[in-house]
Amino acid sequence: MANNYEGILIKSIDYTDSSKIIYLITDSGIVSLLAKGARKLKSPLRQLCQTISKISYNQSESKKLPLLYNGDVVNPYLGITQDLEKTSYVSHIFEVIYKLSTDIDFSTLYKFLNITLDRIEKGIDVELISFVFELKFLYLLGINPVFNRCADCDSNETIGFDVYRGGMICSQHKTDYSIFDIEFITGIYKLYYHDLSREFDYSINRKLTRKIIDDYYQHYMNFKSKSREIIGQIYGY
Ligand SMILES: [Zn+2]
Repeated sequence: MANNYEGILIKSIDYTDSSKIIYLITDSGIVSLLAKGARKLKSPLRQLCQTISKISYNQSESKKLPLLYNGDVVNPYLGITQDLEKTSYVSHIFEVIYKLSTDIDFSTLYKFLNITLDRIEKGIDVELISFVFELKFLYLLGINPVFNRCADCDSNETIGFDVYRGGMICSQHKTDYSIFDIEFITGIYKLYYHDLSREFDYSINRKLTRKIIDDYYQHYMNFKSKSREIIGQIYGY
């Protein structure tokens, strides 16, 4: 049976004794639906309410809190949900999207999220894939790092990278926080432009890259995810 809608389930909360409210990322925005009776063992909606899964579904048209009628699991992403490291990073990505996506291009985001989850499920380096996602998501938010000139004065003679200036900087605009390590700068540049169908065939300073991406979200969006703490426990930074 063909269903009318498709989405990736990023969050599911209990609602009353028997029901759930689910949150989906779709190509037109974040949708919340009431899944009546979904907490009951025999409910056909129960299997549609698993976090980190892609479902197709039908819903009521009411504006307030539409009802989830029925649907099918398109991908349960078992390669992700059975792995703590992958689950932690995907939860982090979901939090970033859920908290920060207000006025963004959901059609682009949905396509990009699908590719990102497919790559993570296939077992490719989840940390590097998340770096790529988080860096490109800065572009959708309109706060992407500037790489081809000084972020402050447009000079082409760049000597370093600075989160607080918004990207590359010239000698006039360096600060105490500027980074001059060329290997790091080359790595973050390549991650920002990385095509997820390709291999990661360049070296990355992972610890510093993690810190710089965190600083970006903290400084420009005042955001730090709850999952970030678990990631820190897994990787040690
Ligand atoms: Zn400058």
